[in-house]
Amino acid sequence: MRLSTTYDRGRPVISFEVFPPKTDEGLENLMVELAKLKQFHPAFISVTYGAGGSNQARSIQVIERVQKLGLIPLPHFTCVGSDKEFILAFTKQIEAMGIHNIVALRGDPPKDRTNYRPEHNVFAYASELVEFLRKNTTLEIAVAGYPEVHPAAESAGKDLDALVKKVNAGASVIITQLFYDNQVYYELVRNLRDRGVTVPVVPGVLPLIAQSQIDRVQALSGTKFPKVFLNELEACGTNVEAFRKAGIRFAIAQIKDLLANGAPGIHLYPFNQAAAVTEVLSALSL
Ligand code: FAD
Repeated sequence: MRLSTTYDRGRPVISFEVFPPKTDEGLENLMVELAKLKQFHPAFISVTYGAGGSNQARSIQVIERVQKLGLIPLPHFTCVGSDKEFILAFTKQIEAMGIHNIVALRGDPPKDRTNYRPEHNVFAYASELVEFLRKNTTLEIAVAGYPEVHPAAESAGKDLDALVKKVNAGASVIITQLFYDNQVYYELVRNLRDRGVTVPVVPGVLPLIAQSQIDRVQALSGTKFPKVFLNELEACGTNVEAFRKAGIRFAIAQIKDLLANGAPGIHLYPFNQAAAVTEVLSALSL
């Protein structure tokens, strides 16, 4: 599978993101969940990567298991703190596994380094990683986009410049951070097209199904929930089932709207659990 041709199919492309579980039991559970998600014929399963390579071995394990399941893995890679030799060792390893694509990310600097400056031979931004991968590997490259602007960006304009730079450096697909207000996605796409960027911009969607997810999702993404959605969730009070149903209903409507307005596919964040996205995708019958 080459990323650049995945979105030429003329029908919505479904993909999922998973994260490497900490334990062997977690890994086995993830495989059970992924086996359930196979019914939706995902184009790929993207596998996250810990900043600084903290869980690299586990990422590789998940990538291998995804392949064994007959699905196509799309490894993420974060370059923060990694020198060029380390990056090449990782890319060689995945290329030897028959992988043709990668999500190239900078990642987050360590939390105790507030004025983080990369050391010699280490990239400061994902655009530099993209350029390096383009020159030194045959991998096709996806990058991250932020419809609500990256939290550390100097301004919305500078963040857009940074995204355009990643594409100009050689990325052929943009996968977005999750969001709940589709207008922010449409605006990002419009701004990119105005700048001459033509690559697919794939929206990231996370069905919100539990009160406890709200803080986690906001910490992860800084997303703002639309007032109507918040009101609906609030009206559920402590009724767990009502909350879940409202979240699923919202995700179905969100995806319908995205696809009706030209999104090339949907990248779903199942949080390693199949149930919620299964409910959402079954209702959509794509
Ligand atoms: P960049 O594109 O380099 O941007 C980082 C910041 O620098 C932004 O604020 C940008 O505006 C700014 N910037 C970029 N270039 C310049 C420049 N030349 N001058 C000034 N400012 C600049 N994290 C993980 O740890 N593991 C994962 O697997 C992972 N997967 C992700 C997948 C997706 C789809 C998304 C949306 C995010 C993911 N993240 C992951 C989170 C990501 O690592 C963080 O958001 C990180 O802070 C930024 O990474 P980036 O690749 O977007 O960085």
